[in-house]
Amino acid sequence: MAIKKVVLNFPPRLIQEPVTYHLVRDYNLQVNIMRALVRPREKGRMVLELTGAKTDLDRAFEYLDQVGVQVDALVQELRYNPESCVHCTACTAFCPTGALSVDPDTRKIVFDASQCILCESCIPACSYQAIECQF
Ligand code: SF4
Ligand code: SF4
Repeated sequence: MAIKKVVLNFPPRLIQEPVTYHLVRDYNLQVNIMRALVRPREKGRMVLELTGAKTDLDRAFEYLDQVGVQVDALVQELRYNPESCVHCTACTAFCPTGALSVDPDTRKIVFDASQCILCESCIPACSYQAIECQF
């Protein structure tokens, strides 16, 4: 058995397709959806842990490539450094999931890693290098 953590990026035309169902039924994979963001008519992004035989994983990646789903290896985690943050809130405007938000009581930034889909949109928004990818 092999385990792969990957990020799937769906173009709009594939958002309604039962891709994860095919991964389970046709390629005998166990699929653990770690995080997901789907915007109808725009795009979809899913962070998955896939478990299965190496040959099945290879066939599944071929299938994803053929249907047009971009697969990226999940090699990074996002790190928020509160010591560097000046709580300007600029990053929150770029965060599609609410993983970065403003605490209404303290007016300070809160990072909820469980909602982060690792899209990296917030990194260029921060002028203080308070957010970085960890490899
Ligand atoms: S990478 Fe940044 S912008 Fe993207 S979901 Fe995570 S916290 Fe939000
Ligand atoms: S953009 Fe950077 S400094 Fe500003 S609130 Fe976000 S993490 Fe903090």
